[in-house]
Amino acid sequence: MTTFHVLGFPRVGAKRELKFAQERYWRGDIAEQDLLDIAKALREINWKHQAAANADYVAVADFTFYDHILDLQVATGAIPARFGFDSQSLTLDQYFQLARGNKDQFAIEMTKWFDTNYHYLVPEFHKNTEFKANPAHYVQQIREAKALGLNVKPTIVGPLTFLHLGKEKGEAFNRFELLNKLVPVYVEILNALADEGVEWIQIDEPALAVDLAPEWVEAYKAVYATLSEKVNAKLLFATYFGSVAQHAELLKALPVDGLHIDLVRAPEQLAAFADYDKVLSAGVIDGRNVWRANLNQVLDVLEPLKAKLDERLWIAPSCSLLHTPYDLSVEVQLKENKPELYNWLAFTLQKVQELSVIKTALEQGHAAVQAELDASQAAADSRANSKEIHRPEVAARLANLPEGADQRKSPFAERIAKQNAWLNLPLLPTTNIGSFPQTSEIRQARAQFKKGTLSLEDYEAAMKKEIELVVREQEKLDLDVLVHGEAERNDMVEYFGELLDGFAFTKFGWVQSYGSRCVKPPIIYGDVVRPEPMTVRWSQYAQSLTNKVMKGMLTGPVTILQWSFVRNDIPRATVCKQIGVALSDEVLDLEKAGIKVIQIDEPAIREGLPLKRADWDAYLQWAGEAFRLSSMGVQDDTQIHTHMCYSEFNDILPAIAALDADVITIETSRSDMELLNAFADFKYPNDIGPGVYDIHSPRVPKPEEIEHLLRKALKVVPKERLWVNPDCGLKTRGWTETLQQLQVMVDVTKKLRAELA
Ligand code: GLN
Ligand code: ZN
Repeated sequence: MTTFHVLGFPRVGAKRELKFAQERYWRGDIAEQDLLDIAKALREINWKHQAAANADYVAVADFTFYDHILDLQVATGAIPARFGFDSQSLTLDQYFQLARGNKDQFAIEMTKWFDTNYHYLVPEFHKNTEFKANPAHYVQQIREAKALGLNVKPTIVGPLTFLHLGKEKGEAFNRFELLNKLVPVYVEILNALADEGVEWIQIDEPALAVDLAPEWVEAYKAVYATLSEKVNAKLLFATYFGSVAQHAELLKALPVDGLHIDLVRAPEQLAAFADYDKVLSAGVIDGRNVWRANLNQVLDVLEPLKAKLDERLWIAPSCSLLHTPYDLSVEVQLKENKPELYNWLAFTLQKVQELSVIKTALEQGHAAVQAELDASQAAADSRANSKEIHRPEVAARLANLPEGADQRKSPFAERIAKQNAWLNLPLLPTTNIGSFPQTSEIRQARAQFKKGTLSLEDYEAAMKKEIELVVREQEKLDLDVLVHGEAERNDMVEYFGELLDGFAFTKFGWVQSYGSRCVKPPIIYGDVVRPEPMTVRWSQYAQSLTNKVMKGMLTGPVTILQWSFVRNDIPRATVCKQIGVALSDEVLDLEKAGIKVIQIDEPAIREGLPLKRADWDAYLQWAGEAFRLSSMGVQDDTQIHTHMCYSEFNDILPAIAALDADVITIETSRSDMELLNAFADFKYPNDIGPGVYDIHSPRVPKPEEIEHLLRKALKVVPKERLWVNPDCGLKTRGWTETLQQLQVMVDVTKKLRAELA
């Protein structure tokens, strides 16, 4: 027998049922019991899918009403004391207040779960944090699944990863010091699970796959010696998202009962664990992507392992399936319009089926599942040979780019002189990041257009009216470089994906981003080509309305890549450069149409950084090249802007400078311009527009606040190189505050200008 298990399942349901239930509950439309019932039903469906696919254990305790790291804060009693709640008797309402804030307390901060687009709630540790076990949430799930007659394996994030993911608050200390207090509480929690009669507990320690300080790595020995000695269940130590080969000696010596490794992200690490002498769980099906596996290839890896490990071989997805959409079979349109592509895909339910086939093949031989193996092979072959995705002209264009294609014709100093000559801007030019309020009228028009109840003509007329409004308001405000407002865009990635070849979209391919929020990333499945201009008409129309300069607006290649499911048959770097080259066609068309200030947004450049520092340089190298390729061939007097937000950028400043954008606009106001000091220390060479107010809030900044920020900026950026703009686009704001906010920004700028003149 070969044990097949799942590390975790998507929680929100095939049609985002949990999201809608949560939101109805928050609005007061349904009672707590209704929400509990809906959640229970969803868990049952998830478990039954696993059981029906012959999983030997179904994953339990992976369900959460908001976030599994918040659940762990509750389970260990480490919820932020500032809320004044008792973790032992926490109500569901209080739980949601921790996640979403209340009138007195801001919400627990959120950040990305490793290099995924899932966000967890960051534990707040204090020097005097005390832990207290409260395993109720997990125990209940175990009981529920057991009542259904299922064989269960609870999953929980381990103590070192939990501590590692948190932040120190208050008096200075090192949260590592809390470990000794935390471990006994883990023992208590794990034993509460064991008492429910579970044989195995999966304990996730993905922190081991990132760069961990030596004292943390060292601590694994003692912590797991204690856990395995004191916990009355077998422990499966799960790693994922990267190789743990560098810790092979440590892992082999850990007194746990099994080890899970991610063989999709890091297939090469298998060699380091070939002589592992306990249960080895091979993560062979990609939990991070949407592609169907080539089962014959997977079996080629597993069969020798099976020969060696026999019963000790377990099979699983590479990581929790939380990061993949739920069910491909509901994508009727995709199946009809792109049957070939449909056949290359596998979502959560299909991935579980793949594992089922692998299990049978390992236990009974290939013949028992020959039809499934053949179908998988046929899909792999058709994908490898499809003319729709392999377009020789795309590969040829990339291969034949002239030397230095990604470099501007002249250095910045020469370019900016030529740009200033025609731009004729005042000191401290003001501009916007792109979007203006996406009003309900805009959304409605788009929805009607998609449904077919509004004609293309009427839809475009509505968008043009919106653009005109945006232009007139900016003129009234006396802004210097205008934007068209992006009314015609639903989303900054989807909009371009829909207009580029090589992209496909699903109807229900949602994955959880945080809490009740889900995203539906495009699927980049083929070579990328821009068949025709995408934004030129809109920008040209906007420019025709005004004598001021209109800025063109594109989403950059790295951000498009980062927020999509990316094909896995060629390197990500190649896909990214293809997008860059496709965008360059657009940039040159904009330039030809007289749009000679063009912004290429890259808010996601930082979040693409690999987990291990050793891999950063290679990533920044190709990401930078792809960005620069997107404006290849533009004239010196065409001004390229870029925009970044959402992250701290201090540690990648050289890479940002290497993008060689003429102007960078960047989110800084929330950090009181701290970021600018880093730019100054680094001697960032080009123009820079630090955000002067936070666009996430409707609050109108006081003139003194903006003045304070600008004066701070002027201390470190020469006045000739300083721009003035909000932190980011305004699409989530309402018109009233937007006009007031921008008015303050312009007024203060004019005051300072007069002073500087
Ligand atoms: N141009 C985009 C906008 O203004 C940028 C969005 C972003 O940075 N996330 O909406
Ligand atoms: Zn932004």
